[in-house]
Amino acid sequence: MSHIATASAQQFEQELPYYEPVGNECALFEQAYQQRLPLLLKGPTGCGKTRFVSHMAAKLGRPLFTVSCHDDLTAADLTGRYLLQGGETRWVDGPLTRAVREGGICYLDEVVEARKDVTVVLHPLTDDRRLLPLERTGELLEAPDDFMLVVSYNPGYQHILKSLKPSTRQRFVAMSFDFPPPKVECEIVARESGLAYDRCAALVNLAASLRAMKGQDLEEGVSTRLLVYCATLINAGMPILDAACATLVEPLSDDQYVQQGLMEAIKATF
Ligand code: ADP
Repeated sequence: MSHIATASAQQFEQELPYYEPVGNECALFEQAYQQRLPLLLKGPTGCGKTRFVSHMAAKLGRPLFTVSCHDDLTAADLTGRYLLQGGETRWVDGPLTRAVREGGICYLDEVVEARKDVTVVLHPLTDDRRLLPLERTGELLEAPDDFMLVVSYNPGYQHILKSLKPSTRQRFVAMSFDFPPPKVECEIVARESGLAYDRCAALVNLAASLRAMKGQDLEEGVSTRLLVYCATLINAGMPILDAACATLVEPLSDDQYVQQGLMEAIKATF
């Protein structure tokens, strides 16, 4: 019996989206889920927030509804709308409503990008009432225990008009993400790209010097995602400088001088 149980547990582990923990984030997520508290993830782009949420959703065995927010996203895009289907008007649930009905995790990536009316639906869901009012259908849905709301935003490129209001952010348990420490980042880049660990270590070292240039003329430092892209291209046989130019220079800046500076740092390493 126990042998069978171990085998299925192992199989389950293998099916989890790969996520390398950096601190206590997995325990904190699990606690927030169990205590029915909403969660806010803060951090730069490409540092593992989305991967973390899909890993945790799979670990908790809950369906995940991910929405990448943008400046046209309205409350109706989340809750649902009446659509004309085959000559009939039918209500179709949006991802937030589905997560509430099905007891899943709803992840709103870059929530500050969304229109203001989105906060109106989030507020009653993020206090102890955990309610989702659907004005159009006249329903008032009570979120089940296994529903969880997770939102993220990148404090790096906030401007005054687009930041979370205290009345919204103070409804969430929050945690900060950053690029993983070098050893962990090497593990991640090696595992994701298939490139040998020591070659990934060189890239992670390089990332440290490129990230140090942030603020001068760069808005964002090179992300773990871009390091994975770079290692993937190198592993596929692309010359290092070409791969680095396409993944660590071009996506970061359009400014010729900034690009030159980045390229010099890269050439000094390889
Ligand atoms: P974000 O949502 O913060 O923009 P992602 O979660 O999409 O970033 O991460 C980008 C990529 O970086 C992932 O696809 C994955 O390859 C890699 N990554 C970053 N951090 C981790 C981590 N801790 N464990 C596993 N992969 C990671």
